[in-house]
Formats: sequence, structure tokens, C-alpha cells
Amino acid sequence: MAEPLELLDLDRDALGELIESLGQPSFRARQVWRQIYQRGNVDPLEMTDLPAALREQLSEMTTPSREPLEVQTSSDGSTSKALLPLADGELIETVLIRSRPRDTVCLSSQAGCAMGCVFCATGLQGLRRQLTAGEILRQGVLARQWARDEGRELTHVVFMGMGEPLANYSNVSEAISRLTDPDGFGLSPRRITVSTVGIPQNIRRLASDHPTVNLAVSLHAPDQKLRRELVPVPGASVDDIVSAVREHNRQTGGRVTFEYVLLNGVNDSRAHARRLAERIRGIRAHVNLIPLNPSPGVVGSRPSRRATLGFQKALQERGVPATVRVEQGSDIAAACGQLRGDRVRGNA
Ligand code: SAH
Ligand code: SF4
Repeated sequence: MAEPLELLDLDRDALGELIESLGQPSFRARQVWRQIYQRGNVDPLEMTDLPAALREQLSEMTTPSREPLEVQTSSDGSTSKALLPLADGELIETVLIRSRPRDTVCLSSQAGCAMGCVFCATGLQGLRRQLTAGEILRQGVLARQWARDEGRELTHVVFMGMGEPLANYSNVSEAISRLTDPDGFGLSPRRITVSTVGIPQNIRRLASDHPTVNLAVSLHAPDQKLRRELVPVPGASVDDIVSAVREHNRQTGGRVTFEYVLLNGVNDSRAHARRLAERIRGIRAHVNLIPLNPSPGVVGSRPSRRATLGFQKALQERGVPATVRVEQGSDIAAACGQLRGDRVRGNA
């Protein structure tokens, strides 16, 4: 018998071929596509605009989509985190952040992560594997259904969950294409943000493949020596990352976000802020400061409110727009850097 198919792992052409191989007219493929990406029906038996025989055929050929093992919601109700099992038993996490009129899903792009940032719970695990485009999209489809069930509308997608999206470029790029397909998920690319630790060649690819998708680059340090302490896996230098971002600016005309996790006594002084402002001078950018979210086993502590605001002010005085990220979901370990993909509860 043929291996069961994951419907979400098929791109449009592959789905078209499958439908054709079943002797069906091509418009049926479009119907299935819309059922999945617009209506959120991942179970063929529920695709009621298809003939019953086709529904059954598809259902027999495909693996049923897995439901979350667990959903936790923060005490203020703003953030929910789902633990999703994958076909091979890997676990990933997806976060829904409600802040009307902007409801955002935070997608995972890998199980684990190879970069090993010292302050990040995902980085502790190392890379377990890449997610397929279907596994990435499943999270978006699920989050949108969640929002709809609550009478809300999912408006934004951020690749800020587990993993480094630009180290899984082709699957992330395919997922973006389907998220922005007017016949598919139908989201504007301007409402999608890819957050990367900084992989220059793939920042360039993103600029040409998806020029209006927002780019966020996690810099964390104004110079190489300090960055290496925080992002230990040998990769691009601060210089190379900053020049890829300059090119992205030129090519897309957009504004980039630099993310900067503030660690008490490590990278949070006014002198660091001054050096950062010099380093990124001339780039159309905005700096998003993220006071460290603590997590078991990770390095570093959160800076004082005073240090955080001082850092922000030092950037602003040099003409660099800077904001401090509002933390949501830390009581369920759903905030930035707290996703581990297991059932160990961070703070419970
Ligand atoms: N791998 C990508 C995207 C996932 S991480 C990246 O690194 O950009 C999303 C954001 O959370 C990044 O800016 C990352 O630096 C930040 N982050 C990681 N651990 C954190 C922690 N413990 N506290 C606050 N932010 C953290
Ligand atoms: Fe990976 Fe991003 Fe975590 Fe670094 S911060 S370990 S790149 S997920």
C-alpha cells in the first residue's frame, strides 16, 4: 500500500496531480485547496462541497491531522500555547496572541534549533529536525480556527516560535507562498514577519522571493565578540549580517526590525546602545528591545526597568526608533525564548 499522504504537504501542483489521478476534474483541486486554507477543514470527510465518494477516497489516502495534545492559556487570557505532536512523535509549540484588532500566531519552523543562543529554551535542545511546509501551515490553519471559534480574526503571522526560519528556507518560503495565496490562506505579506538570527544569503533570498514580508533580525550585540558569547554557533559576523540588512533595505524599500534581547549586565549598558546606534546608522530600522524572559536552564537575568528604559533612550537620542516589547504569556512559558516543545511547565 502507498504511504499515507499529508494533505498539507502537497503544493498546488501536487494536489492537482493527485485529484487528476483520481479521475476528477481540476476544479476539485481548487475546492480542496480552499477547504484547507480558507475554511480550515483539514479532514476530507468534512469537505462537504466534494462528492461523497471523493471525500472518502481522500480520507483513506491521507493521514488524519493531529490535534494539539495540550492547550494552555495565560491568566490574563491574552495568550494561548498549543503543544502539537508531529507524525514522528516530535513536539512543537504554536502561540496565539490576542490583542484586538491584531491577533497574531507565532509559528515554529523547526523542532529545536541549532543556533544555541544561550538565553533561549529552544536552543538548549539542539536541532531535532526541519518542519515541512505542511507542518508549518498546519499551525496557521489551527490558530485561525481557534480565533474564529472565539469570534476573532487572525490578522498577523510571525515566524518567532521554535527554530530558525531561514535555516529551513525552502519550507518556510513555500509556507509564506501559501499563506499569501489569495486562493489559499489569503493573508497580505505585509502582515507576515520572519524573525531570523541572521543568515545573510537567505536574507537576500527572502528579499527577492518575498520582498514585502517583514524582516526582523535578532542582533543582540553591537560587536562580534559579545555576539559570539550570546549566539555561540559559528555563523555570520555582525558585519555580514548588517550588510545583508542594508541590501534588504535597498532592494525592498522596507524597514527592518532589529531585535535585541537585553541581558542584565551583559549587553544592556548605554555604551552598548551607543555602539549599536553607530553600527546600524543609515539603515531604515527600528529596534525592538526584549527584556530577557527567564527559563529553566538558560543563561542570564532580566535587566531592571531603569536599564531597559535607559537603553531605549540612548538609542532614541541618536535617532534610532526603539520600543520595548510587551511581554505576553510568560506565566505559561509562551513568551519569546520559552518554547521547549515538551510538557515541562516553565513557571508552574
Ligand atoms: N530563531 C529566530 C526566531 C525565533 S526566536 C530568531 O532568533 O530570531 C524569536 C525571538 O525571541 C528572537 O528575537 C529571540 O532572540 C528572542 N528570544 C529568545 N530567547 C529569549 C528569551 N529568553 N527572552 C526574550 N527573548 C528571547
Ligand atoms: Fe534558535 Fe532563535 Fe532560539 Fe537562537 S533565539 S536558539 S536562533 S530559536
